[in-house]
Amino acid sequence: MPGIAQAQSAVSRVITHRPIRASVRLQALQHNFAQARRLAGEARTWAVIKANAYGHGQFQVARALQGLSDGFALLEVENALALRAAGLTQPMLLLEGFFAAEDVPVLARHDLTAAIHCREQLEMLAAAEARPARAYIKLNTGMNRLGFRPADLGAVRQQLERLGIRDLTLMSHFAGADTPEGIETQRQVFMQAAAGTGLPLCLANSAALIRYPEARGDWVRPGIMLYGGSPFAETPADALGLEPVMTLESRLIGIQELRAGERVGYGGTFTAPGPMRIGIVACGYADGYPRHAPTGTPVAVAGHPSRTLGRVSMDMLVVDLQDMPEVRVGAPVTLWGVGEGGRVDADAVAAAAGTISYELFCALAPRVPMEWR
Ligand SMILES: *Cc1c(COP(=O)(O)O)cnc(C)c1O
Repeated sequence: MPGIAQAQSAVSRVITHRPIRASVRLQALQHNFAQARRLAGEARTWAVIKANAYGHGQFQVARALQGLSDGFALLEVENALALRAAGLTQPMLLLEGFFAAEDVPVLARHDLTAAIHCREQLEMLAAAEARPARAYIKLNTGMNRLGFRPADLGAVRQQLERLGIRDLTLMSHFAGADTPEGIETQRQVFMQAAAGTGLPLCLANSAALIRYPEARGDWVRPGIMLYGGSPFAETPADALGLEPVMTLESRLIGIQELRAGERVGYGGTFTAPGPMRIGIVACGYADGYPRHAPTGTPVAVAGHPSRTLGRVSMDMLVVDLQDMPEVRVGAPVTLWGVGEGGRVDADAVAAAAGTISYELFCALAPRVPMEWR
């Protein structure tokens, strides 16, 4: 159908006046990185920038951390190549290795390090005409997602070395670094497997880095903490010295005066207990705001802490304007982060919606314009 591409580029050229915006504070990102670096001690750091840097923009994030991080960890070869093309020369780690044999020579050519976690990847390496000199060996120490059994480590290492891949690092991933169960069982399995191999070790995500100094190893892999999210349900990010990086904000596009007994939104799940003033915000689940956020989810309006009311719709949600008689259409609303509307903890919004800030950040919709400051 000719015309769609032209129509789309015409839309993208128009300045949008719908008031929703996301912004990313790169200084806060750098501050959070410095926190991770301090906790890492002597260990080197992979800044985890998978999923478009948890929704924050992989190019901008990588640039902001370029002189700071020892390397970048992500998933897809094509994103690593795009970052190489953008001038990033740092080491890059593909956390799940490669997904197809044709990517193996590409790793070699662009100096990308792959995590090798299964036999099929070993076979693809063996069949390739060019191979990288470096790899991570991923061990399954109890999470039962990706990785070789520790008992197979010797054989895997031998195969890799026979293929000329001799610069090896041992990695694993914790299932419970953010839970009361902790990491000790998995850490012991890992340390036993690593004992006597002389290989460098790479273990800690944000939660382990913050909570378990004994799991630092030679390389750490912080993700969420760089973006100002707390990995722990019970500890707010500011108590960990982290600053919010992403702000999602919008404005009121309507106001309603309710009488007692009137209901709000789809399904009428909120009923006004008395006369009340409510505000309609240009932000809905099609923008990435969680539809499961119930009445009472924190929000800030024109500098006042407030709450959502009723169900989140595709393009709008509703907020309580109690004690804000001065507020009019156009008033600023902060959905999360630090904006003109006020300050709202993304982890608190996520908790209210039964999820984690990781998901909120990653789910931010492409239709929301983003700026980097
Ligand atoms: C995503 C990921 C991380 C980062 O985890 P955070 O909890 O965001 O710090 C580290 N290691 C691996 C293998 C990952 O997939």
